[in-house]
Amino acid sequence: MRVLERFSFGVGDRFAHQAAAQLRAFQKLAADGVDVVPVWNKSNREHTFVGSEPPSVLKAARTAVEGLGWSRGWHVDADHIRLETVDRFVECSDFFTLDVADSIGKPPGPGEVEAFLGRHPELVGELRIAGVEKPFVTSPEDVKRVAGKYLLAAQDAGRIYRHIVDKKGGEDFIAEVSMDETDSPQTPPELLIILAALADEKVRVQTIAPKFTGRFNKGVDYVGDLVQFEREFNEDLAVIAHAVGQYGLPSNLKLSVHSGSDKFSLYPVIRHALARTGAGLHLKTAGTTWLEELIGLSEAGGDGLVLAKEIYVYALEHVDELCAPYASVIDINRSNLPDASEVGSWSGPRLASAIRHIPTHPGFNADVRQLLHVSFKVAAKAGARYLDLLKANEAIVGKQVTENIYERHMRPLFIG
Ligand SMILES: [Zn+2]
Repeated sequence: MRVLERFSFGVGDRFAHQAAAQLRAFQKLAADGVDVVPVWNKSNREHTFVGSEPPSVLKAARTAVEGLGWSRGWHVDADHIRLETVDRFVECSDFFTLDVADSIGKPPGPGEVEAFLGRHPELVGELRIAGVEKPFVTSPEDVKRVAGKYLLAAQDAGRIYRHIVDKKGGEDFIAEVSMDETDSPQTPPELLIILAALADEKVRVQTIAPKFTGRFNKGVDYVGDLVQFEREFNEDLAVIAHAVGQYGLPSNLKLSVHSGSDKFSLYPVIRHALARTGAGLHLKTAGTTWLEELIGLSEAGGDGLVLAKEIYVYALEHVDELCAPYASVIDINRSNLPDASEVGSWSGPRLASAIRHIPTHPGFNADVRQLLHVSFKVAAKAGARYLDLLKANEAIVGKQVTENIYERHMRPLFIG
């Protein structure tokens, strides 16, 4: 098994121009004494929207790693893959996010729930877990209900996992299981049952992405009950430590937080929990590097600013179409979106401040930011014009990318 390091941080790079700028943030953090490894992730959906192929991610990552002399670990994540989509990722990835959310709530085969209950009598009754204040109390019916909801998803993870083992000729890769893209959050007792089922499937899961309570909208802060999140997050950590011992899962198994970028209000909660428990973390960002490209082009002025404004205006005119695929992960108040003539009159720094995620800045506009977040297809359509501007403005764009990851994400998460 390829071992995932204690702290890992997933970065996306839709247009494959920012890997070095991203890696510089990890170097700065390493210089502060905190070892976090980069994981470059790109989903099948993203490749389809942008028109790229999975090997391009490995190539860009390797070029950055070699160019900057990065000697620590790094990985390439086939993000949110399924049995139907994994094949073209096998050669060029060492990290696979097995997305089984679609199977949640679908019934497993006849007799499977009873068989699960038969294998796991320890899940029924009063469950005392170190680090959880009140024991979980479960009846056989509770376990059956939860198993009925998640067993097929765990079996699905097993099928995808074994398929990758077959294709790779062994288990020398990192497996993440993701259940975040679904309607209702998984509670800590549910997580325990899910982990038992994954262990039954012999999935060597090293990181798991549950859906947490609250809203994890793309590119903006968490919306929800912080006290409840803190309790759940800490209980999830306790459940994972318990499951590792009980079910023989990999000892480095850890939580993965998806859409984890920009969740500024959660970072102190997570930082304290990690310090207290010694647990690891994988935090996957929500493709926000592309927003830093727009910020950099705005700051650059000239043709960069012209294109950034064009992208905004186009997005405004196609807001329904662009937002539809992301309806469950954005909350845009359309009355806060400035019209084309207003944005047309803005300076580069003014537009940059509307997009840049500094909530206390008077220019910041979370609605503009979210709309642009889902509008990367518009830049993809601009093609060479967009990419040439990225190259021409590499220094100013790269600076935004590095600063965003290091200052606004890594420091609050890992240093405080
Ligand atoms: Zn996800």
